[in-house]
Amino acid sequence: KLHNTILELKGNIRVFCRVRPLLCDDGGDNETKSVSFPTTTEALGRGIELLQNGKKYPFTFDKVFVPESSQEAVFEEVSQLVQSALDGYKVCIFAYGQTGSGKTHTMMGAPGNEVEKGLIPRSLEQIFESRQTLQNQGWKYEMQVSMLEIYNETIRDLLSTNRNSSSESAKYIIKHDANGNTHVSDLTIVDVRSEREVQFLLNRAAQSRSVGKTQMNEQSSRSHLVFTLRIVGVNESTEQQVQGVLNLIDLAGSERLSKSGSTGDRLTETQSINKSLSSLSKVISALAKKGEHVPFRDSKLTYLLQPCLGGDSKTLMVVNVSPAASSANESLCSLRFAATVN
Ligand code: ADP
Ligand code: MG
Repeated sequence: KLHNTILELKGNIRVFCRVRPLLCDDGGDNETKSVSFPTTTEALGRGIELLQNGKKYPFTFDKVFVPESSQEAVFEEVSQLVQSALDGYKVCIFAYGQTGSGKTHTMMGAPGNEVEKGLIPRSLEQIFESRQTLQNQGWKYEMQVSMLEIYNETIRDLLSTNRNSSSESAKYIIKHDANGNTHVSDLTIVDVRSEREVQFLLNRAAQSRSVGKTQMNEQSSRSHLVFTLRIVGVNESTEQQVQGVLNLIDLAGSERLSKSGSTGDRLTETQSINKSLSSLSKVISALAKKGEHVPFRDSKLTYLLQPCLGGDSKTLMVVNVSPAASSANESLCSLRFAATVN
């Protein structure tokens, strides 16, 4: 009984850490590594040690992926969570970390590369495969996709085919109804019946992201990408109904957040730089602590995702980390953030 209580207190937030390989850009073989992985039985697969300024900082998470971990291995640990969206759960999977730490690689992966595809294409593959199986048990599903970007507290519709008129007149006002469904006015919502249709939309979104950007890197590292799949299932023989949501989020780079220190007075300064990111960390720590006031309304991102965070929804934060010694400061900030959530 006591054990259950502890588990309940911990809530439905899980934290994984993923360390990417050392890259040529980091300085290749000449770059020293700042991370190691303890092999004691209790920390095996869950521990990470960061070396910064001659000091060792140990952390433990629900799971730690080493640089050699494949995209498939990462998805294997996430697939059950993805599956629960088909059972009617609201699920959020976030990729957190400094720019260049592997967030987009984790979420999207390399386009057109089967082995290197990330969580988003793998999740869709699994969902459409399972749908096939569940259909034989009398389930009928309707699925809808939307994709948006939040940049400087402004929402951009990534699936709009009419970019000019939409950017002028669209308001993108977020509203939640009594059933916990979220509506964003003027946002394009597309019915999808196959993985191929979703793949087509992902490509359209990628194009929309890159068009009309003068400082693309700057903007993409400061913007949050939110992919949403809404699932409505009806069982024709048992008349059961389920409504699930799967949100897959490639967050803005966390470096600006940590540079000014993610706690205390300096948080105010950071908020004007990336309000949504700092507000997300406050929301998630408040949820993890339970009973605390949760400041959902402080930012677009947290307000948009409010029904999918907390309650009986499921949240996974994948904290991406670079192994390079030159990134040790940022990595320590990311790991500390992750530890407050865990
Ligand atoms: P972010 O989105 O956090 O800015 P990226 O996903 O773009 O970072 O990753 C930065 C670079 O590192 C890219 O060239 C990417 O291909 C590479 N990379 C990231 N993670 C891995 C990984 N697990 N294995 C191989 N290459 C990776
Ligand atoms: Mg990225």
